[in-house]
Formats: sequence, structure tokens, C-alpha cells
Amino acid sequence: MNILDKEKSSFSNNNIRQDLELLKRAIDASVSGIIITDNREPDNPIIYCNSAFEEISGYSRSEIIGHNCRFLQQDDRSQKERAMIREAVSQGEGCRVEIRNYRKNGDLFWNELLISPVLDENNNVTHFIGVQQDVTQRKKAEQDLRQQQETMEKQIAERTRNLRESELFLSSIIQTVRESLLVLDPDFCVVSANDHFIKTFKVTSEETVGTNLYKLGNHQWDIPKLRELLVDILPTNNPVEDFEVEHDFPHIGRKLMLLNAYRIELEGQFKDQILLAIEDITEKREIERRKDDFLSIASHELKTPLTTIKGYVQAMERMIPENAGERFENMLGKTAQYLDRLNNLIAELLDVSRIQTGNIELHKLPFDFDVMVKETVDAIQSASSNHQIQITGSSGISVSADESHIIQVLNNLLSNAIKYAPEAEKVRVHISKVSEFVKVSVTDEGMGISPEDQKKIFERFYRAGEIQQRFPGMGIGLYICEQIIKNHNGTLWVKSEKGKGSTFSFTLPINTTN
Ligand code: ADP
Repeated sequence: MNILDKEKSSFSNNNIRQDLELLKRAIDASVSGIIITDNREPDNPIIYCNSAFEEISGYSRSEIIGHNCRFLQQDDRSQKERAMIREAVSQGEGCRVEIRNYRKNGDLFWNELLISPVLDENNNVTHFIGVQQDVTQRKKAEQDLRQQQETMEKQIAERTRNLRESELFLSSIIQTVRESLLVLDPDFCVVSANDHFIKTFKVTSEETVGTNLYKLGNHQWDIPKLRELLVDILPTNNPVEDFEVEHDFPHIGRKLMLLNAYRIELEGQFKDQILLAIEDITEKREIERRKDDFLSIASHELKTPLTTIKGYVQAMERMIPENAGERFENMLGKTAQYLDRLNNLIAELLDVSRIQTGNIELHKLPFDFDVMVKETVDAIQSASSNHQIQITGSSGISVSADESHIIQVLNNLLSNAIKYAPEAEKVRVHISKVSEFVKVSVTDEGMGISPEDQKKIFERFYRAGEIQQRFPGMGIGLYICEQIIKNHNGTLWVKSEKGKGSTFSFTLPINTTN
């Protein structure tokens, strides 16, 4: 029932007046702010407001009555909602808006405003009723949500851009490197192949991309062992490293290829892909082989005349005339000494070529390990007065191994400890028995080895950069040592800190059966 209609038509009626009073009180008690404006008066002034409106706006009744509602917007006048209200009022229609209003103290509050017109019997709009709700909290929550959404969208956009850049970055690397590269999907189908692959294998991009790796060019990559390794990459993230494939490839002939494969660790759509790098090492291997052949031939060729010279020098030593003089004897002594050094160097080179061809022969017999260490140390000690070699510990055990080769290893470690610690006075040798192994550690207080060099010093002909000129050597001693120890099923390793010294240790199984 429309209360205002009643009010107009039965103003004089006392009972109705009482009813009206009751309803007015009910409206006063409402939590929504309610106002009534008189549309018949100029500028549509407020003629009624309830207590909730006073509370929401912070103005008192006396400051509200007689004013147009717009005072609630203070200086914030350009809101489009104001035009919507104006339009509705001029048309005599109702409307619903959410508008920024300001309390008397200037605080912003969001007002959900519902305006409805009151019509007389001639359908003229006499009043407007405005019902307001303070929806500031809801608006703030909405705004926070929107902000969160915007931030999230920005982050997603950024991430997408990064991914796209990563993709471009990756594909530019793939295209530029001078190695054949394939990107494979989880089913081992080629997602992309770089130019180098296309050129090397004389194939087209069309016949490669989209084809399963194992079906490529005459099923040449369909190798059971390779299948086994590739299958493991994605689930375990275990890369395939340095897998050699020798094959008669269509178009390019017999080649030796080195394969490396990794899971591509980019997030999102790239997560499940494999990067397969294929390097043609046919020529490199051939050069290495020729170098090894040369080494083997050269050292054999050198060895023969050297043995003869050595024989002559030994004969001369036996035939020294009585009046030859000290100088002559010294010179002969030095010649024999340098011949021995030369002989050792050639023997080492021969060792390398024997190791290369797998011809290293071990003659294992039992010997007292501690005695062997002591005798080897004594021999080195007698030739180097600047250093004091100290033995600690013991194994108390007899080991079955190739004694001369083990002596060779220990000799090498001791000579290095002396050579690369010229200023130091002490070299320590520690013997121990660890489980079913004997262990020897040789510690010096010398120049030490950088972590990068530690990884390489056991390679053939590798010498740490800065020592090349200062210390003589060929960089093969440790290579031979490691091979000898490996052949005995033991291990050789280094622990070192640059500038502080090094400890080379090796273990040997006590009971070697093979
Ligand atoms: P060489 O001594 O003839 O160079 P090795 O194979 O015995 O050959 O050693 C390889 C390299 O390892 C050496 O050139 C040197 O750089 C490093 N090295 C070996 N032993 C030591 C040591 N005790 N202290 C520092 N560097 C060492």
C-alpha cells in the first residue's frame, strides 16, 4: 500500500494520522537511509530523512532538510551516476545507482541508491523516495578482488611473454649451434630440427619434423639401448650422456655419432620435451687414433736405439781406464742418469699406448704392502734432500697386486708431491686398512690444484695451465696411475685446496681375484 497516497487523500482523518505516525516511526527505525524529496518545489528539496540517513551521511536533520541530494557528492561531481539520477528525475522515473558520496567529515562512502517516484491521481510526480545503503565494505572487497585479478592477469601476461622469449631464445640457440639438434615430444616425434641436422644428414625439414625419431632415415636411430635411455629421460630426468652410435647412414656413409639428450627444463608447454644433440665425432676419433698410433710407433722406435746406447754406456762404465779422472767418471755417471730419465719417459709413453690399446698386463702376486710403501719412500727420499717424507699408520697386510705397477703409482704421487711443492719441507704418507681395502694418502703442502683442474688432471696430457713453464712433465703420470689402480679395482682421487696443498689417495682391494 502506498503510504504517501494515503497521506494525501486522508490528511484530515485522525486515525489515519495516527497510522501515519506509526509508519513514520517504522521508517525511522530502518537501517537503510531513507529520504523523501518534494518534486513540486524548485530544485527537488529533501522534506524528510530518517535517522539512518543522518547516521550514514553524518549530517543532522536540520542540515539536510530543504537541500537537494547532490550535496552528498561534495566536489566529486563528474560521476556519470549523477547524470543518470538527473535524467531519471527529469523523466519522472525510478533508478538504481551506486554512487560515491561523502560524509560531513569528508569520508567517502559508496551509496547504493534506489530512487522511486510518487505519483498523484493525475500521474504527476509529486515526490521521490530515495533509499540508501552504505555499501562501502562490499565495494572495497570488489575493488580488492578486481585489483587482485588485474595483478594476476599482469603476472600471467608477463609469464607468457617470458615463455615466448624463452622459446625464441631457445630456437635461436638451436639454429645457431654447430651441432645437430632435435627437439622431441614425449612420444619421440621430432618437434623441430635445426639447420645443422638438416644439412648434416642431407634430409628435408618436411620429412623430419613430425616423424618419430626411430623411423627417421632408414630407422637408423632405432637402437634398443638408445630407446632404453631415452624412455627414462622424462620420468627420471636422467640425461643420456656421450652415447656412441656407429652406423652406415643413408647419403653420408659410415659415421660415428656422439649422442647427448636432456629434458628441456622450461615450464608449461615445453615441460615434456627432449633436446637431442648429435655430434659427428668420426673425424675427431680418427685423428685421436692416428695420434695414438704415432705415439706408439714413436716410443717403440725411440726405445730400440736407447736400449743400445744404454748398453754401450754400461759397457763404458765397466771399462773406465784407471787414469780417466773424476771428470770423465762424472760425465759418464750423468749420461747414465739422463739415459735413465729418458728411458722412464719413453716407458711412460709406451704405457699410455698400451693402456689405449688395452694391452696393460698385470702380474699379481702377494707382497707386504707396508714394506713396499716404506721401500718406495726410502728410494725417493734418498734422491731428494730438500723434503722430509714422513710415514704414518700401517696396514699390516699382504696384498695381491702387481707390485711394480703399484710402486710406479706411489713413485709418481711422491715425485709430484715434491715437484709441485718446491718450497715445502714435508711430505706425509699415511697407510691404513679400510674395510677390505688398503689405502695410501700422499699429502703435500704445495701449490694445490683448483677445483676445475682437479676434474681434468687424470686425463692424458693434461697439465694445469700455470705450471706448464715452471715444472717439467708430460701430463701423463696421473693418467697412467689412475688406469693402473682402476685395473686393480681400486680408486685414485685428489683432495686439494689452491695454495694450501694436495692429498692424493688410492685404495686397493686386499683380495683381488681378477
Ligand atoms: P706431470 O706432472 O708430468 O705434468 P701428471 O699426470 O703427474 O703429469 O700430473 C698432471 C697435472 O696435475 C700436473 O701437470 C699438475 O698440474 C697437477 N698435479 C699433479 N700432482 C700435483 C700436486 N701434488 N700438486 C699440485 N698439482 C699437481
